[in-house]
Amino acid sequence: MTSSHQGRHRVVVIGSGFGGLFGAKALKRADVDITLIARTSHHLFQPLLYQVATGILSQGEIAPSTREILAGQDNVKVLLGEVTEIDLEARTVTSDVLGRRLVTPYDSLLVAAGAAQSYFGNDHFAEDAPGMKSIDDALELRGRIFGAFEMAELAASQGEDVDHLLTFVVVGAGPTGVEMAGQIAELSHRTLKRDFRAINSRQARVILLDAAPQVLPPFGKKLGERTRRDLEKLGVEVILGGMVTDLDERGIDVAYKDGRSERIPAATKIWAAGVQASSLGQQLAAQSGAPLDRAGRISVNPDLTLPGHPEVFVVGDMIALDNLPGVAQVAIQGAKYAAKSIRRRVEGKPPQPPFKYFDKGSMATISRFKAVALIGRVRLTGFVAWLAWLGLHLIYITGFKSQVTALMHWSVSFVGRGRSERTTTEQQIYARAALQRLRGGAADLVSTPGAYDRAQEILEVTRRAELEARALEEARLTDSGERGQSLEQKV
Ligand SMILES: Cc1cc2nc3c(=O)[nH]c(=O)nc-3n(C[C@H](O)[C@H](O)[C@H](O)COP(=O)(O)OP(=O)(O)OC[C@H]3O[C@@H](n4cnc5c(N)ncnc54)[C@H](O)[C@@H]3O)c2cc1C
Repeated sequence: MTSSHQGRHRVVVIGSGFGGLFGAKALKRADVDITLIARTSHHLFQPLLYQVATGILSQGEIAPSTREILAGQDNVKVLLGEVTEIDLEARTVTSDVLGRRLVTPYDSLLVAAGAAQSYFGNDHFAEDAPGMKSIDDALELRGRIFGAFEMAELAASQGEDVDHLLTFVVVGAGPTGVEMAGQIAELSHRTLKRDFRAINSRQARVILLDAAPQVLPPFGKKLGERTRRDLEKLGVEVILGGMVTDLDERGIDVAYKDGRSERIPAATKIWAAGVQASSLGQQLAAQSGAPLDRAGRISVNPDLTLPGHPEVFVVGDMIALDNLPGVAQVAIQGAKYAAKSIRRRVEGKPPQPPFKYFDKGSMATISRFKAVALIGRVRLTGFVAWLAWLGLHLIYITGFKSQVTALMHWSVSFVGRGRSERTTTEQQIYARAALQRLRGGAADLVSTPGAYDRAQEILEVTRRAELEARALEEARLTDSGERGQSLEQKV
């Protein structure tokens, strides 16, 4: 932990997710200066993204402003920026936002950049089957799901076939896929059933597809089977042992283990199948020699430091350690542990024993009033599991106002049949595709700081040259006595 820097110990935190936010908060009383850099200005509660996508919650309820959460913590500065480079030798982090580059030095680094969606090498699937990792994803999906019903109503009123518009395929039968499929089924069979005239929303086909032989593999066979049955009762078609081989705007191609294959016409596809750790892991691996696993997660020491770099901690979805799962508690507990290690070092105290994860259990909702939970060896199902889910999520939604409004929205959707957040816009659905067509993404829409100054300079030079030319012309007209002559006279 040596540094040429003489002031307070500088901690840089990358990410404002579970690891980043809880790490920064755990350093509240430490004698350090923290800079938290994240590519979004909010802290995202990913487990409830599916409720934003299906119109239950608003994005603000699950993504409060990081700056607001940390406003009362004087030793932390929050900066927006995509971290593009970590230099372990120079101990700097380089970030960029719309062409504005920043280099931030650190004495200790906490990397909590999470994971992105993985399409297992078929990245082009993303265009027609968005994943669910961000608010942008959830709002796009909301637009696509509600938009599919709208388009079906139009097509049906013109006598056209609407089957592909009313088919929704969710790929991946983990907790996210189960929750998403359950909610689309509730939406079509319950919420929307009185809203349309030309279509019967209850005839919508909701498919949950996975290559694995069971639903919710980490929950074990019994809970997996129970979940499958509950989903089927809700009207979800569960297709197991089916691998996606291709997909496009109108459908999805599936190959089965027994050699069969089929094309399922479906306008709406949702990808909930795999994750790939942040590419910052590759940079850390290249510079430290630490290996990466197939999902791009980096091997860390038992104290969550990067091999050969005791000043760098990596936590959450980015790490490969003792088969820890990619869940919020791993990130939260890891970040708190790393923060404590940093504090102890700054205070000159001896190191802690290795990080130990305390498994508080896993849960997934299936529909209103139905969930499954695995807490140690205890298996909960049905209403009891749902109550446990409700309590836990209320506790973890950050901010008092979000808890109150989320509770109100849940009452609207679970006790009643409404959805408070059905608003969709054209931009939600198409903006991502439009941005992807720009070479430099959103940065192409604005001038970079340097480019702006250069453009201003050129404008000023041109304007000055114009004014000088005009003044010269005026002087010439006066000198030559041409001023006041009519055009005819000149000719
Ligand atoms: C749809 C969904 C549902 C889930 N449901 C559950 C659940 O029910 N229970 C559960 O325990 N877990 C659940 N998880 C998993 C859980 O959300 C993650 O394990 C957890 O968020 C990991 O925390 P993290 O801090 O490692 O990463 P994240 O929370 O993903 O945070 C990563 C942060 O890093 C930022 N970032 C990424 N790259 C950069 C960069 N280059 N520069 C700057 N900032 C960057 C991101 O903007 C973000 O702020 C779910 C995940 C998803 C996607």
